[in-house]
Amino acid sequence: MSSASFRNGSGVSRGGAMKIDNYNPKYSPSSSSSSSFKSKMQHSTASSGLRRCSPGSIGTSRDDSAVVSGRVRVAVRLRPRNAEEMVEDADFADCVELQPELKRLKLRKNNWDSDTFEFDDVLTEFASQKRVYEAVAKPVLESVLDGYNGTVMAYGQTGTGKTYTLGRLGKEDTADRGIMLRAMEDILEEVSPENDLVSVSYLQLYMETIEDLLNPSNDNISIVEDPKNGDVSVPGATLVEIRDHMSFMELLQLGEAHRYAANTKLNTESSRSHAILMVHIKRSVKGKNPSLSSENGSITLTGKTLKPPIVRKSKLVIVDLAGSERIDKSGSEGHTLEEAKSINLSLSALGKCINALAENSAHVPVRDSKLTRLLRDSFGGTARTSLIITIGPSPRHRGETSSTIMFGQRAMKVENMLKIKEEFDYKSLSRKLDMQLDKLIAEHERQQKVFQDEIERIASEAQNRVAEVEQNYADALELEKLKYQKDYMESLKKLEEQWTIKQENHGHQKFKIGPSDNGIHQMSNAESPMLSASEEVVQIKKKLQNETLLRKDAEAETDRLKSESTHWKKTEAARNAELVKLRKMLEDQACQKEKLEDELSLLQSQLLQISSDADEVKREQLRDTGDGERASMAKLFEQVGIHKILSLLEAEDADVRIHAVKVVANLAAEESNQERIVEAGGLTSLLTILKNSNDETIHRVAAGAIANLAMNELNQELIMSQGGVSLLSLTANRAEDSQTLRMIAGAIANLCGNDKLQAKLRAEDGIKALLGMVRCRHPDVLAQVARGIANFAKCESRASSQGSKNGKSLLIEDGALPWIVLNANNEASPIRRHVELALCHLAQHEVNAKEMITGGALWELVRISRDCSREDIRTLALKTLKSSPSFVAELKRLRIDHG
Ligand code: ADP
Ligand code: MG
Repeated sequence: MSSASFRNGSGVSRGGAMKIDNYNPKYSPSSSSSSSFKSKMQHSTASSGLRRCSPGSIGTSRDDSAVVSGRVRVAVRLRPRNAEEMVEDADFADCVELQPELKRLKLRKNNWDSDTFEFDDVLTEFASQKRVYEAVAKPVLESVLDGYNGTVMAYGQTGTGKTYTLGRLGKEDTADRGIMLRAMEDILEEVSPENDLVSVSYLQLYMETIEDLLNPSNDNISIVEDPKNGDVSVPGATLVEIRDHMSFMELLQLGEAHRYAANTKLNTESSRSHAILMVHIKRSVKGKNPSLSSENGSITLTGKTLKPPIVRKSKLVIVDLAGSERIDKSGSEGHTLEEAKSINLSLSALGKCINALAENSAHVPVRDSKLTRLLRDSFGGTARTSLIITIGPSPRHRGETSSTIMFGQRAMKVENMLKIKEEFDYKSLSRKLDMQLDKLIAEHERQQKVFQDEIERIASEAQNRVAEVEQNYADALELEKLKYQKDYMESLKKLEEQWTIKQENHGHQKFKIGPSDNGIHQMSNAESPMLSASEEVVQIKKKLQNETLLRKDAEAETDRLKSESTHWKKTEAARNAELVKLRKMLEDQACQKEKLEDELSLLQSQLLQISSDADEVKREQLRDTGDGERASMAKLFEQVGIHKILSLLEAEDADVRIHAVKVVANLAAEESNQERIVEAGGLTSLLTILKNSNDETIHRVAAGAIANLAMNELNQELIMSQGGVSLLSLTANRAEDSQTLRMIAGAIANLCGNDKLQAKLRAEDGIKALLGMVRCRHPDVLAQVARGIANFAKCESRASSQGSKNGKSLLIEDGALPWIVLNANNEASPIRRHVELALCHLAQHEVNAKEMITGGALWELVRISRDCSREDIRTLALKTLKSSPSFVAELKRLRIDHG
């Protein structure tokens, strides 16, 4: 289990290391508590990170520079005059006057004088229960539903409306419902009955004894503290699961019936006991990647189903405190003085703790009472806390009202460090990769099938064509042959006939010539065969010519057929060549497939590694929440290898890239990994992804990683030499998310602390980039800007005192002074501290004095030297003032004593 922590949104730890944190914009001090609940819920981001976290709590010595006003919110509520006051105080004005629009309360001292106090909210006697709920409890509730712990607490004199505010059931009039009921209604609306669990215990603390309001026989419950993380629990208390509104209403009634109520003079319903309602919420956080879960709820790669793994546990505590009036006045009857002391012990211990926290005292007496132990997390701890102080209007109780107001004022100074608990989602990364692989495999298979089908089609087509051509050729040849045979036979027949005729004619002639000597006869007889023979010759010649022509035709036809045949043969050869080519392509594809398969199996083995590492992380986390996780991370680092992880930064799938950059960022958060990341080219990869990506999450996470790497001097030079500053300021210009700006400002702030880079940083507009980011007024961003300016001023001051710099401060030249002066008294202490230091550094050099005087910085220095709560800064400011001749002269001129 890892803890994502922030102090009201700031994840800056002592060394300036940036963590990739959950940031919930609704808790910036400026956020209005009345804006819509639903829309705010959508804002909550759910990125997670691995980190160490020391549990902040009452009594932990706190690092000022890392706290951004995650302070306790305090509202004041005025009860309307009751019947008795209407009569008895009829002639007197109320002792308080409210100015709700200014969030101010005036407490009358007498007719002509009053003190004014500011609160986070001022609720008049007309304020509805709904409005009170929304102002006081709703911000806490949203936090609780997001996985943080939360506290809502009412403090005030008996009879001023604490129970009215918190515990009213509103049975007759639903508009009267108090905070407890309304909170549960919102919780039940938000949680899912299948995946989430809501359970409640209800306790009473009276005379340092904790009783179970749900089981009165259980009357001595002890508090258990986890020595590792400081978590406080009451395992002995009855825990009832709540599924619907009615069962909770019944439970509250049961508790109320059991509640010990000691009658007092002031109000017979009032109570000297503290009532504590604890609501435990366990939510499974899934669906961070809805497309993944809906598309394939149970992808199996290794044979086991990978499930979404995140669970968040949070606790809402609602405390109806005992009356704050002094015991002698309320006169709890039937108690000895010792008992009376014990009755008020818890409440006075709470007052002492709050005083100590408000004054930043090193010792907070949290162990002095059961109440302060139970509320360890609520003041100065990790919970979001809202306090409502209730007061009455009667001038007769002016003293009590005044002390209630002072309690509220002090509580407003208490700062908490919010903390969320959730796991890093390795499984989802692994599932993403898994899906990508599956997609690739399927696509490959599909392509192969299409390719084979195509080849088969072409081959069969070619075969058909060849067969067809062969058949045509054979048919044509056969026809020709038959024709020639027929012609030949006919020619033979004709010749035979002629020959027979000739033979006949020949025989006849012999017979005639033999017996006759007549010349004329002979003449005529001799002439006639001569004639027929020459005719015959002519005929034969004609026939021969005919034959020759026919033969020529046949030859031409043969040639034509021959050429057609060669043409088909050529076509066939071309088809064969195509076939060979296709075969070759097939072989290539097979080869490529083999390669892809190799790659796949490599990726699969990496995946297996990652998921087994994730399992390992889980197992180790069960055993040891801090070190195991780091060890697993290191293991992952070694086994998967930074090169592989970095190569995933270029993955096609955007989600894979985001996951990969988160892994790199979390690795970079560990100093021991940084060198290897940089050696493997990680810094360059991060700068590249910053340049090429348009995704804000990637920008934020990558900038966070760069900020972490920028803690090291060598890396700082590397970042500068790779154009990192202009890249960061370009990203800052495009950024919308304040956390992105915080990371970028943090990175530049780290660069500002490097003596060697001062001139270059300034030349590349680093200071201007830093100042540009104040457009986002988020205190986390401003704190980083202030840190950067302080770092820069410190380096300048060092250079000046070593004589390597003579001119005016580059910060002043780049126009930083107005912002510095404006924020020198910023209410957020990290911003204020850094700016105060920057002012002291700047003031050490006489060249800056003139500008500082005209810019109003001198006044701030004087204020710091007088009012700064940190003695070292105060002393430094005073020393600086005294050592500058210009300042001394100016103060003298204005007759201001600064000694
Ligand atoms: P507490 O718990 O501080 O002792 P209660 O809540 O019991 O005070 O209030 C005392 C009386 O004043 C009750 O009768 C309650 O109904 C009434 N009361 C308190 N606050 C209001 C309010 N805002 N409007 C009307 N009546 C109130
Ligand atoms: Mg009460």
